[in-house]
Amino acid sequence: MNREEIIDKLLSGQIKLYQIDNYTKTATEALDIRREFIEKYSKCELEHIGKYSLDMETAMDKNIENPIGTVQIPIGVAGPVKINGEYANDDFFIPLATSEGALIASINRGFSAITASGGVNARVIADKMTRAPVIKTKSVKESIDVKRWFEDNFDIIKEIAEKTTSHGKLIKIDPIIIVGNYVYPRFLYSTGDSMGMNMVTIATEKVLEKLYADLGVQAIALSGNLCVDKKPAAINQIEGRGKTVVADILIPENIVKSKLKSTAKAIEEVNIAKNLIGSAAAGSMAYNAHYANMIGAIFLATGQDEAHVVEGSLGITTAEDRDGDLYFSVNMPDLPLATVGGGTRLETANEALNILGVNGTDGVNKFAEIVISTVLAGELSLVSALAAGHLAKAHQELGR
Ligand code: NAP
Repeated sequence: MNREEIIDKLLSGQIKLYQIDNYTKTATEALDIRREFIEKYSKCELEHIGKYSLDMETAMDKNIENPIGTVQIPIGVAGPVKINGEYANDDFFIPLATSEGALIASINRGFSAITASGGVNARVIADKMTRAPVIKTKSVKESIDVKRWFEDNFDIIKEIAEKTTSHGKLIKIDPIIIVGNYVYPRFLYSTGDSMGMNMVTIATEKVLEKLYADLGVQAIALSGNLCVDKKPAAINQIEGRGKTVVADILIPENIVKSKLKSTAKAIEEVNIAKNLIGSAAAGSMAYNAHYANMIGAIFLATGQDEAHVVEGSLGITTAEDRDGDLYFSVNMPDLPLATVGGGTRLETANEALNILGVNGTDGVNKFAEIVISTVLAGELSLVSALAAGHLAKAHQELGR
């Protein structure tokens, strides 16, 4: 079949979008035909979606189905920022993909204050990716038997899980929650430099096969939402998920005045009134001003799973007036992150990770410290701007 015939058959519903590849020599030829069909069907031109340099043949293996092109988002850099981490110890320029004008300028202002103050202290304090299936039993009594099976057989379970991966390690299964005839064991793994969701899902599935063989009980779903993946949740905030990261800085009074155009007292007051009391009044789970802005821009630039922005948005900001100097900290309990696997293999993501020097193996902890340092800068800048009453003015000047 030639191109026109394939498009006609698509329009008449005789073949499906995913079947185009059966009639073409290459995946990119199929991609072009798919886009042309959508142009005809939707009566529009897709000139820009059709321009790209990514290797879509490779992307189709793991990253995308039914591709028609790519999306382009402007990418800028903020920096340099001095980071005093355990893994990240240098001055960095940070790639950020966003269409929100003023975001990079604002982060840059935070970086400038940070670097002039000697740098931000950043640490990874925990590392665990979770998967929690839901298992159905007949009764509470049987649920307790299942819970005991997980507790009594941990060594065998660990061996089964770790046979499926050379980088994943099962740390523990905790908590194991029983709700009537449903059991939710929360598996915690370390996943090396990968974010790990595929890895831990495959490993957990193998363990459930053994559970079925031993007790004859079945999982209803491989994810029972106690994980909790891609949703804001108290269990992730308290127990942590992905990387748990903390960062702080002491900014001398003269730099608070000259760079942040405010005072430590005013910044402390805004932080309490907005990030702490305001968030509590709203029943918000995120006691911060805008972690999601920095997380979103870094995630898009570096090929992270963008749905995890919702998890990265959790965390608490503190600010203290220390005799005119400003103590400022951010905490991020739930930061799923990767320098290997998933979208990090896409060419633009690879390049962005290279800017940070965190591409591939042994990069993810350094990357986590860089991410939280960027979050601290953006948070510091926005809270300071509010304190100084500068927010509206900055937006006006930048024409947005
Ligand atoms: P992945 O690309 O599926 O797996 C990572 C791979 O990298 C593993 O095969 C691992 O091998 C290998 N690897 C090589 N060097 C490594 C290193 N230094 N550290 C860790 N692994 C290394 O990625 P994933 O992180 O498991 O999963 C991410 C993907 O899952 C994303 O595309 C995301 O969108 C998707 N996702 C899946 C689910 C789900 O429920 N399945 C949920 C949310 C997101 P070994 O395993 O042999 O060690």
